[in-house]
Amino acid sequence: MKSAIYPGSFDPVTYGHLDIIKRASKMFDEVTVCILDNKAKNALFSLSDRVKMLKLVTADIPHVRVDTYAGLLIDYAKMIDAHVSIRGLRAVTDFEYELQIAQTNRLLSRGALDTVFLLTSLQFAYLSSTSVKEIASFGGDISPCVPPEIEKMLKKKYKDAYSKRTGGTGKKSGGK
Ligand code: ADP
Repeated sequence: MKSAIYPGSFDPVTYGHLDIIKRASKMFDEVTVCILDNKAKNALFSLSDRVKMLKLVTADIPHVRVDTYAGLLIDYAKMIDAHVSIRGLRAVTDFEYELQIAQTNRLLSRGALDTVFLLTSLQFAYLSSTSVKEIASFGGDISPCVPPEIEKMLKKKYKDAYSKRTGGTGKKSGGK
């Protein structure tokens, strides 16, 4: 069985991630979307919220499962007997960082874990969890970026920004 892992923070999952998950699910017998619990990253959503979100949006995609791991990807891969890590590439700026991770994983796993890169679909090339959170924090429209369930959870997180936008006077503060 060809099994692959799609690791990341998914804070939160976007249409860009979903596109990669759907395409990977057609290439492998099983794709495990693994939320790596990296405390240094200071996530907006808790691990359990991120699991909930990913399970919701991947429910209809065949042979995809969601898991979490607090440790090295190579150890997780060994544990579930997967030999491929999937990563998405948006632009050349992603490449250097991804190259370093991919080479390190190959070295540490003694060749057991390889990385397969999927190029982002063009319409999602500029999408990142960070920009989605930034837009949401100002009460902006994030419906082109994330599925409706995720939009709802982001709006709940940034309730004040949204109520200010819809209930405010529209006047700029500090003006005459
Ligand atoms: P990390 O914190 O590990 O970068 P992310 O959750 O931000 O985790 O991203 C996980 C993976 O998804 C990475 O390989 C990243 O390049 C990829 N990715 C993120 N956004 C997009 C997108 N819009 N299109 C394609 N791939 C993406």
